[in-house]
Amino acid sequence: KLTERETILTLIDEAMAFYRERLLSGREGQQAMGYLLKRGMTRKTIDDYRLGFAPDGWDHLTRYLHSRKRSPVMAAQAGLIVPRKKGEGYYDRFRNRIVFPIFNAQNQPIGFGGRVMDDALPKYLNSPETPVYNKSRSLYGLNAARPKCRETGTVYVVEGYFDLLSMHQFGIANTVATLGTSLTADHVRILRGFVGEGGKAVLVYDSDQAGIKAAQRSVAVFQKGDLEARILVLPEGHDPDSFLMEQGPDDFMKAANSAMAMFSFMAESAVDRYGLSVEGKVRIVNDLRPAIAAIGDPVARSLRIKHLAERIGVEESIVLDKIRRWKPAPAR
Ligand code: ATP
Ligand code: MN
Ligand code: MN
Ligand code: MN
Repeated sequence: KLTERETILTLIDEAMAFYRERLLSGREGQQAMGYLLKRGMTRKTIDDYRLGFAPDGWDHLTRYLHSRKRSPVMAAQAGLIVPRKKGEGYYDRFRNRIVFPIFNAQNQPIGFGGRVMDDALPKYLNSPETPVYNKSRSLYGLNAARPKCRETGTVYVVEGYFDLLSMHQFGIANTVATLGTSLTADHVRILRGFVGEGGKAVLVYDSDQAGIKAAQRSVAVFQKGDLEARILVLPEGHDPDSFLMEQGPDDFMKAANSAMAMFSFMAESAVDRYGLSVEGKVRIVNDLRPAIAAIGDPVARSLRIKHLAERIGVEESIVLDKIRRWKPAPAR
């Protein structure tokens, strides 16, 4: 007798096989394959990452699972099918989409992302949280990334499915993707384990408003999690996938090697936001106080203060004084 967890995992595994089969055969599958190839994915990447295709129609997977006598209640718990609002029965969650299985640390599929092949909305659809899929602890590409993270002491963190696949395909396999959810303390703990003592993360988010915002939010999480992080800001409008496909891995690595330290990134963001008027400078220093206070090492802290003072043209002693007077809000 299987536990609920085991039953759900089995169903997701069966769904993955179903989606793969549909990608690899039939006219619709050919179109989906065409889309992936057009996006620059190789046959090896498509196979290694077990990409698939959810056919168009309301109940292909639902009927397939039914024909195998699987419990629809459990399949719904697994996030694969959805109970109809009106009447009885279920319908497929993923329809007419490329599907990307998401794996856990044991290499079992635990959920899916699905992308349309045109400009229909929503562009992506994801499995809901289930007993086996916890979004705040899952990262896309985790297993394939681990060895190279160990080896290099560096992990690249990207946003999207195609970002991850392109990074891996170009040999930058020490990459994981957050899949559009914000980075959590659990993610940072996992990544710190991957890169080991003295390791670092390099955030390569989309170079758009949303990506920069997300990077700014992630900075605090890395600081709390005690993992050094750098931020690679790609040319505006690019994400890692588009950059790699256009410029190739050498340019990417060149850019990566000059990725900004977290604090410089925050300082630059604050300068962008507030400008260098008198009021702007006051707000910049105010805004950065918690980040400066959070720098544990006194040498690093004093250097950051010095650089910030120089960057915004304020006496170092004044910045220092402001920081000394600042007390963190008491923990609730
Ligand atoms: P593509 O290159 O195929 O256009 P992308 O990965 O660049 O896709 P973004 O819009 O930059 O797409 O989103 C980044 C990631 O955020 C996606 O890969 C996906 O994991 C997640 N995401 C985006 N939109 C949604 C959505 N509507 N629902 C769930 N996840 C989403
Ligand atoms: Mn984006
Ligand atoms: Mn993107
Ligand atoms: Mn993209």
